[in-house]
Amino acid sequence: MTKKERPDNRKLDEIRPMKMKAGVIKRADGSAQVEFGLTKVVAAVYGPRQIHPRHQEDATKSVLRCRYNMLPFSVSDRKRQGYDRRSTELAKVITEALEPALFLEEFPKTAIDVDMEIVQADAGTRAAAINAASLAIADAGIPMRDLVTSVAAGRANKELLLDMTKEEEDAEDAVDVPMAMMPRTGKITLLQMDGIVTPQDTEKIICLAEVGCKKIYEAQKKALLEKYGS
Ligand code: ADP
Repeated sequence: MTKKERPDNRKLDEIRPMKMKAGVIKRADGSAQVEFGLTKVVAAVYGPRQIHPRHQEDATKSVLRCRYNMLPFSVSDRKRQGYDRRSTELAKVITEALEPALFLEEFPKTAIDVDMEIVQADAGTRAAAINAASLAIADAGIPMRDLVTSVAAGRANKELLLDMTKEEEDAEDAVDVPMAMMPRTGKITLLQMDGIVTPQDTEKIICLAEVGCKKIYEAQKKALLEKYGS
């Protein structure tokens, strides 16, 4: 599992070099910057605050509103500015990945807004965005059951791999399985799959992602400790 080499010389079960920092945007209630190799994302959180437009108000709980956006210069060919079908889908799955960690019913009639900007993309942006959003929510002091931790695992060039780069994701046999979980309980809050793979390999890929999530969890906790002390 650990011997074969990858384009960036990582082991098969090795995550790219991670950087995490909480509290990077002074204007937001909470924020974080997260990097996995070349993939870089900034998340900012506002709320719980009064919801606009008012018709979105829910008398029983806070509404979590996530926005995912790729900046034009984040990819090799300059991307057209603004939201598209992909960013709408990712905002939805990220919202569903984060919701189980929050006590939304404690803040009725409000909104919690989470903005995620992909500054640089080299695959794994939804996972990086979830990790950053989760840190930013904690940084905003919003109560959580646990941090949500995310990574993608999969297959490229006949090998099962953790945290693939775009180069690896472009392999002919590529399978991409982004996953998010709350490590304390092991509850999985996001599981997607792109590609065709056997049930046996699916299990192995999920195990790889689970081990990865636990390592990322430690990095997230360290980033919070760096800001808030022990
Ligand atoms: P994720 O970033 O979560 O892995 P995808 O599998 O949809 O999500 O995308 C994989 C990678 O493909 C992205 O991280 C990015 O590097 C690249 N990519 C996605 N959308 C575009 C785009 N519109 N233009 C260029 N590259 C893109």
